[in-house]
Amino acid sequence: MTIVADSSRCEELLCRRLEALRARVAEAEAEARAGRAPGSVTIVAVSKTQPPESVRAAFACGQRVFGENYVQEGVAKVEALADLPLEWHFIGPIQSNKTRAIAEHFAWVHSVDRLKVAERLAAQRPAALGPLQVLLQVNVSGEASKSGVAPAEVPALAQAVAALPGLRLRGLMCIPEPTSDEALLRARFRTLRRCLEDLCAQGLELDALSMGMSGDFTIAIEEGATHVRLGTAIFGERKKP
Ligand SMILES: *Cc1c(COP(=O)(O)O)cnc(C)c1O
Repeated sequence: MTIVADSSRCEELLCRRLEALRARVAEAEAEARAGRAPGSVTIVAVSKTQPPESVRAAFACGQRVFGENYVQEGVAKVEALADLPLEWHFIGPIQSNKTRAIAEHFAWVHSVDRLKVAERLAAQRPAALGPLQVLLQVNVSGEASKSGVAPAEVPALAQAVAALPGLRLRGLMCIPEPTSDEALLRARFRTLRRCLEDLCAQGLELDALSMGMSGDFTIAIEEGATHVRLGTAIFGERKKP
């Protein structure tokens, strides 16, 4: 009895958070200088470290798109929740020996940053699932420690990935360095947007910019994000591993 009460209270809280976030996304879309069309931003609910029950609760609140960082944890959740019509996005670092599991269980990958990984995903994507939707992760901060392809190397990688069967290149993703400097953050998001515009000018048909997390998603939307990746803002603080 108490368990039922607890889980429904938990679901209520999640629903309220999601509704508030949808409103903030719509507001940022409306305020964006580019005059974004309503509904042009997808919330990717980042469910890493959250149990499958939390994903079910978010689903009950109308959330359909979820993101996972770790292959083993993500695959287990995809399988445990196979009864729900969810769209799963892989957003974490990719080791080349884990590409098969990603190709077989996810609809989107945001974090491709080298050709070898793209080639493996292409070869391992089951034809029955249709093309894997791919974003290239770009290192917009120029830090040696961060993953992502350097902006100058994006065009060559994009052309090579776009030519692979089994994949559909949709756009770019970034994770800027943590900063409280809003102007710097905007500059990082603009770098990503400009990379996408350059690719479009080169004839690639791309439509997705994955940028913005719980702390900065309204700024990212103002700068052109089509996918915001929200974990903490939806599910609350994660337990430290
Ligand atoms: C964890 C994570 C997120 C979500 O971060 P929050 O700050 O909790 O919203 C988004 N993107 C990536 C790549 C992540 O690893």
